Amino acid sequence: MIELKGIRKSFGKNEVLRGIDLTVKKGEVVAILGPSGSGKTTLLRCINYLEKPGEGSIRIGGFSLDYKRAGKKDIHALRQHSAMVFQQYNLFAHKTALENVIEGLIVVKKMNKDEARKRGVELLEKVGLGAKLDAYPSQLSGGQQQRVGIARALALEPDVILFDEPTSALDPELVGEVLSVIRKIAKEGITMIIVTHEMGFASDVANHVVFMDGGVIVEEGTPSELFGNPKEERTKQFLKRIT
Ligand code: ADP
Repeated sequence: MIELKGIRKSFGKNEVLRGIDLTVKKGEVVAILGPSGSGKTTLLRCINYLEKPGEGSIRIGGFSLDYKRAGKKDIHALRQHSAMVFQQYNLFAHKTALENVIEGLIVVKKMNKDEARKRGVELLEKVGLGAKLDAYPSQLSGGQQQRVGIARALALEPDVILFDEPTSALDPELVGEVLSVIRKIAKEGITMIIVTHEMGFASDVANHVVFMDGGVIVEEGTPSELFGNPKEERTKQFLKRIT
């Protein structure tokens, strides 16, 4: 359902992604793990063309794109298929929670305002924020802001949601509420790729775990394969360090 092939990315002389191939099945939750600087965030940003890959292609649903040849229309189409949840939430500060969620419905999906509002309310209720529709981001906790970010991603009904370390900016006591929302939507069969340092969460929620180091996928498998029986030395060392 999603197929990435040969993704490469350099910043100047620093080759950060060295040929990433990844297949994600419909409804699958993929966790990407790896040491800091291994290219995890860059990979997610490349998928959505927030960074332009030097090489590579994506096939997602019925849509395919060669990143090197992508024009504006292709990028717009790509972002209808994949939505991103950011570390720092990236909400519009001058818009309410509801306005943040429905912006994409009105601008991208061309939905009328009443319909968009109805959908936005449903989504904010789903992430436990039915009482905060008219709150501005500055009036919300980090965990609440991130849940708005998740509702905004869901609104577009993308084929995949890309989560870039969604809890890394949160105070520890707020991590649980965001993870439980992600867990809930995972159960609904939404395809997700999640960069995370939360190993317990990854082993619990993901169907497939990918270990990256030095811009390549070193090893991938089910959580029990990767956590229980890692084959590669680099994976073993990484897991030893963090547990
Ligand atoms: P991870 O998410 O695994 O911690 P990143 O993808 O953030 O890794 O970073 C991988 C490498 O790419 C790092 O060496 C980082 O310094 C470099 N990098 C990331 N973004 C940029 C950028 N915009 N400009 C230059 N170098 C970057």
